Amino acid sequence: MSTKTQWIDDELHSLKEQGLYNTVRTLDSPQGAWLVVDGRKALNFCSNNYLGLANHPRLAQAANDAIAKYGIGPAAVRTIAGTMSLHVELERRLAAFKGVPSAISFQSGFTANLATIPALVGKDDVIFSDELNHASIIDGSRLAGAKIVRYAHCDANNLREVIANERKIGFRRALIITDGVFSMDGDVAPLPEIYAVARENDYLLMVDDAHGEGVLGRGGRGIVDHFDLHGQVDVEIGTLSKAFGVVGGCVAGNEKIVEWLRQRGRPFLFSSAMTVPDVAACLAALDLLEASTELVDRLWENARYFKAEMKRLGFDTGLSTTPITPIILGEAPLAQQFSRRLFDEGVFAMAIGFPTVPKGKARIRVMISAAHARDDLDRGLEAFAKVGKELSVIR
Ligand code: PMP
Repeated sequence: MSTKTQWIDDELHSLKEQGLYNTVRTLDSPQGAWLVVDGRKALNFCSNNYLGLANHPRLAQAANDAIAKYGIGPAAVRTIAGTMSLHVELERRLAAFKGVPSAISFQSGFTANLATIPALVGKDDVIFSDELNHASIIDGSRLAGAKIVRYAHCDANNLREVIANERKIGFRRALIITDGVFSMDGDVAPLPEIYAVARENDYLLMVDDAHGEGVLGRGGRGIVDHFDLHGQVDVEIGTLSKAFGVVGGCVAGNEKIVEWLRQRGRPFLFSSAMTVPDVAACLAALDLLEASTELVDRLWENARYFKAEMKRLGFDTGLSTTPITPIILGEAPLAQQFSRRLFDEGVFAMAIGFPTVPKGKARIRVMISAAHARDDLDRGLEAFAKVGKELSVIR
């Protein structure tokens, strides 16, 4: 009998034993404050649907109208089969929204990072990377082949120190990369301080604004707007899958870098573009974001309320200053048990453990949305209070 995949059985068994095995629940409803999860109605505390756009009628209508006009697929990569005017329009609108000269779209935020980092640095170069940067930044950095030097989380002084060390060794170019909002803790990078280090050294600076777009800044224009750093950050990575409610990625920056990505960004050159309904829905999302700050305001109101109430109940919400609300529990099996009990109580909130977060820092991550009504949040708080007491997390 062949034993060549026995190691997979062993690894899966070990994941289950450590409480680290991912079980993916099945949804039978559109995104929104409430979902049908594994056949049961449940309050949704999991999605990155910050503004409730994932099932917004205006986006759905725009997608349908575009399908009627352009069909669905782009049918090949853009350099080979041409690019639809819709994609060009999306890139123009994204650049205007972000307040940058130019933007380019990708299939996802993940591929935007995979495209950008290897296009900017290579084997003789150094990437200075926050130690808690997202997996797609880590993978993009590995793909680039540059030396990866991690600096302490959100610590511009440590960034200075590691740069000084590397300068003694020597390198060709350098790129500093940070997440804008850190997705597991909900804290915000000290971008002005990091920018000061980039400027002192004349290094390229890149920020991944996946959780800042539609959330931070005026009307959701993102972290660069939030800190009023327009024109200072060389590359902003974005995703269209979170606040925008669709799927896709984006790189916003100066014309030269965007032009270079059209020449050398491998997912642009070797993978097909976003689909027609996705692009049209993103354009409708931009219309909504540019017309009013109502959804962004509601998101923040909900986030502030929920976090304050969770703290009052005695939960540890970590470092979060954004709608991402981690409930730090410690060991992975406790977090999994907490999540299962919440589900029994009609609340869908997933446990997150190693390797997504460090060992001993397992948590439930609650994602607040403008789609939640105050009653929904109160329902969730009740369930957290009940399960928290039952499992002796709070008194
Ligand atoms: N960057 C960060 C910081 C993210 O949190 C995510 C999504 N988890 C991504 C990139 C990838 O975005 P997408 O889902 O569009 O691939």
